Amino acid sequence: MDIEREILETDILIVGAGPAGLAAAYTLATRLAAHPDVKRPEMVIMEKGAFPGAHSLSGAVLDPRGLAELIPDFVAKGAPLEAPVCSDSFYYLTEGGAFKFPINPPPLNNHGNYIISLNKVTAWLAEQVEAAGISDLYSGMAGYDLLVEDGTVVGVQTVDMGLDKDGTPKSSFSPGSIIRAKVTVLCEGVHGSLTRHALEKIPQLLEGREPQSYLTGVKEVWEVPEGRIAPGAVIHTLGWPQPSYEYGGGWIYGMANRQVSVGYCVGLDSPDPTNDPHMKFQRYKTHKVVRRILEGGTMLHAGAKTMPVAGYYAVPKLYHSGLLLCGDSAGLLNPQRLKGIHLAIKSGIMAGETLFEAARTGDYSIVTLKQYSDQFEISWAKTEMYGSRNFHAGFRGGVVPGLFHGAMQMITGGRGLFDKRKHGRDHTYMLKKADYARRFGHEPKKIEIKFDNQYTYDKLTDVYKSGTKHEEHQPPHLVIADYDICNNRCSEEYANPCQNFCPASVYNMVDDAARPGKKKLELTPSNCVHCKTCDIADPYQVIRWVTPQGGEGPNYTDM
Ligand code: SF4
Repeated sequence: MDIEREILETDILIVGAGPAGLAAAYTLATRLAAHPDVKRPEMVIMEKGAFPGAHSLSGAVLDPRGLAELIPDFVAKGAPLEAPVCSDSFYYLTEGGAFKFPINPPPLNNHGNYIISLNKVTAWLAEQVEAAGISDLYSGMAGYDLLVEDGTVVGVQTVDMGLDKDGTPKSSFSPGSIIRAKVTVLCEGVHGSLTRHALEKIPQLLEGREPQSYLTGVKEVWEVPEGRIAPGAVIHTLGWPQPSYEYGGGWIYGMANRQVSVGYCVGLDSPDPTNDPHMKFQRYKTHKVVRRILEGGTMLHAGAKTMPVAGYYAVPKLYHSGLLLCGDSAGLLNPQRLKGIHLAIKSGIMAGETLFEAARTGDYSIVTLKQYSDQFEISWAKTEMYGSRNFHAGFRGGVVPGLFHGAMQMITGGRGLFDKRKHGRDHTYMLKKADYARRFGHEPKKIEIKFDNQYTYDKLTDVYKSGTKHEEHQPPHLVIADYDICNNRCSEEYANPCQNFCPASVYNMVDDAARPGKKKLELTPSNCVHCKTCDIADPYQVIRWVTPQGGEGPNYTDM
């Protein structure tokens, strides 16, 4: 279908109003305010969520270093901090027991940090950007394609609105626009769809890099009776309900107003095709260490998100002609400290400074954009990423070798017993049923619990608590390249792991009326919480997450 699209021209296009994108915009605004002689560039900030923060989810313990650099008086300006961290504990859990480490691992020492709700902080940052004089933030605007011409990124095409399920325009049809920009700054968060386009269309970005690895975190916010956990208390756990060969762990953070952030992260490089992050999280809450805090409380909000944990060696080249990559889009997360918000903000600050330089000189070429990468190389963000460069790779053999390697890395400046260990993409570690049986002596068996709607909830309840909304009559934003693989080969070889790893019950195998006794894949895309797990974990890589209409997806509050 030939569609006439509106073409908008701008100097700077920032994709994603999260911590990185907003830090870039704020930095640019403050530099421009200090240099009134510099011609103000035109800028567009696009955000696919219904409002800034709608899709932001994290634990979260904030290292304030990045925020303090961006807005030194962030406390006086009313940053929505839940509580300063008042205590740190670290447990190893077994099914019935818990071992509390006498000393907290130094990277998990959170003295001086704050418990936050990322989506509240993101909304506040958006207010600061507006107060700094930037009014060009458009929520509900989703990117469909990254436009690359002759090797240069030239902008973004936004998503068509008002198409029916089969792609037929409805009466409300509004075609996506072409936004042409001298520089596009991708700050989309984890495994963003335009970032994926960038990495596919510009192979140089990944040259010499290791593949990214991911955890899926499932989180709930609870309101609990007085005195269960102090605001600012931080508890991290390893072990149960995950087997020792899987990467991941849990957290419990005391927030303000008797609220608690509780969550569980599960590595997507698991060999187990029944790996189910949501189910593991629900089981986690039944452990006595967690349950004694939640007992008598109410679950208020829920959500899920992936996080990039491969570390420094998986960080792509940060710039290209017409392009900067920031925050989680660039894999800037310290896996040893489980923190990335401060790095996202720092990358946004450095991008903002580079954008100012481009505006000052009128030179948006790759020569100027390279300054962002040069700044990163001499920044504390690089030092921190480099120091944790082998952390995730150390856990390839499981939790026990991981703890050993982690200790060795701490005393060798991050090197440990090996450096830059090769690894594959997460989905390549999932074993077929038969291979799993050969390695573990039994077929993969999903452990299920009966949800009691008091401490444990099914996936649909958590979807409801995430505030997720999608127009049902639109083309599915989970694009399956080959249903035949799902309905036949995958059923046979893996027993359709998408039913397990999706935390939102989007994928279900249902009876196939055309093939008695057989099942077929049925999708419910309207449940999707945009966590991106399926795009990463699908063993055949036939699932592609594309952006639905702008303004849809989760509407997180307090997350
Ligand atoms: Fe996450 Fe994919 Fe499920 Fe959406 S469909 S919730 S992106 S796993």
